[in-house]
Amino acid sequence: MNVVEIRKDFPILQQTVNGHPLVYLDSAATSQKPRQVIEVLCRYYETDNANVHRGVHTLGTRATEAYELAREKVARFINAPSPLQVVFTRGTTESLNMVAYGWARRKLGPGDEIVTTPAEHHSNLIPWQQAARATGATLKYVPLQPDGTISLEDVRAAVTPRTKLMAIAHVSNVLGTIHPVREIAEIVHQAGGILVVDGAQSVPHLPVDVQALDCDFLAFSGHKMCGPTGIGVLYGKKRLLDEMEPTYFGGEMIDVVELYESTWKETPWKFEGGTPIIAGAIGLGAAVDYLSQIGMQEIRNHDLRITAYALERLREVEDLAIYGPAEAERRGGLVTFNLGQIHPHDVSTVLDAQGVAIRAGHHCAQPLMRILNVPATARASFYLYNTEEDIDALVRALRSAKEFFGHAVG
Ligand code: PMP
Repeated sequence: MNVVEIRKDFPILQQTVNGHPLVYLDSAATSQKPRQVIEVLCRYYETDNANVHRGVHTLGTRATEAYELAREKVARFINAPSPLQVVFTRGTTESLNMVAYGWARRKLGPGDEIVTTPAEHHSNLIPWQQAARATGATLKYVPLQPDGTISLEDVRAAVTPRTKLMAIAHVSNVLGTIHPVREIAEIVHQAGGILVVDGAQSVPHLPVDVQALDCDFLAFSGHKMCGPTGIGVLYGKKRLLDEMEPTYFGGEMIDVVELYESTWKETPWKFEGGTPIIAGAIGLGAAVDYLSQIGMQEIRNHDLRITAYALERLREVEDLAIYGPAEAERRGGLVTFNLGQIHPHDVSTVLDAQGVAIRAGHHCAQPLMRILNVPATARASFYLYNTEEDIDALVRALRSAKEFFGHAVG
């Protein structure tokens, strides 16, 4: 994998910010977009734009074919058995809510259990809180180990025959932990439940094979994997998608509409009410082509090298607390930290003055911040365009932040 060449694909990286070359270390929030994706979006709007599944005119046919081809590309990318198991959504948040509304609220009742972890992104937590509240089901948590991992023993203890659903992130957006989804799926299935996987941080970074993982639902976002904002995916096992209710009702998703009742199209179209996110899906198809051409294993190997280097260099910075597993192999491409008592927003502001973009805040994981006993953290996250030099710039900028706020360290 040639990172120097890859960087040339990303026009946004070729700029200076506050007088310094941009060092973009916030890809876990959203990734940058390669020229190849931007060009496909422009070409679509310049030559093919039309509504899908409606008009029989040439542009309508072209747009429909491109939209459905994107679904096939996404299905291949995650090794879904069929493109019909790929639902286009607005993103991970919407995908998870669709399962919570369309499946959990229909299937759960008092006495049933939903199991999750306290490290989840709010998008993989609040939909289950709400579903539990609406159905009378109980929400249970698998405890976190001090290093941010969870133990399969604890999963076995938490999951019972009453567990109808377990929800977990494949990769934590704060701790970086890669969770053993396949083993968890086995435990949940043995108890008769289903496993919902939040793949927001895994699908962009690791080879993800839904059949090998044997997860029941997988949610992810296009914008974190070189695609446009506003498009995401819900993958589901066919039987579960078939028994799941649509969330949105209206145009496009119907079969026959009577005055007092109506019937729906088949999966996945019954979930795509209204004019779908046509350009977004086509852009995501282009992103999938781009990532596949490089190779997801190559991208994972690159993330691993950069993360190992970042962990090594960051450990040299005095007063820097690093959260999550010690070994790069157990992490996705991100490192979350705090610099002494300096508020991460202040750290981030000083870094930004040197062109280094990182995220600071609670990362949509307030319960986890409480476990870590901090109000917020800083996070540097990496992708295929980051280099060792980016990490060196981060470390230099952190040292200068430390000097700047010297009194607050320790
Ligand atoms: N889950 C995780 C683990 C995430 O990192 C994110 C994005 N920060 C989400 C869910 C939500 O994704 P989106 O905002 O694209 O819906």
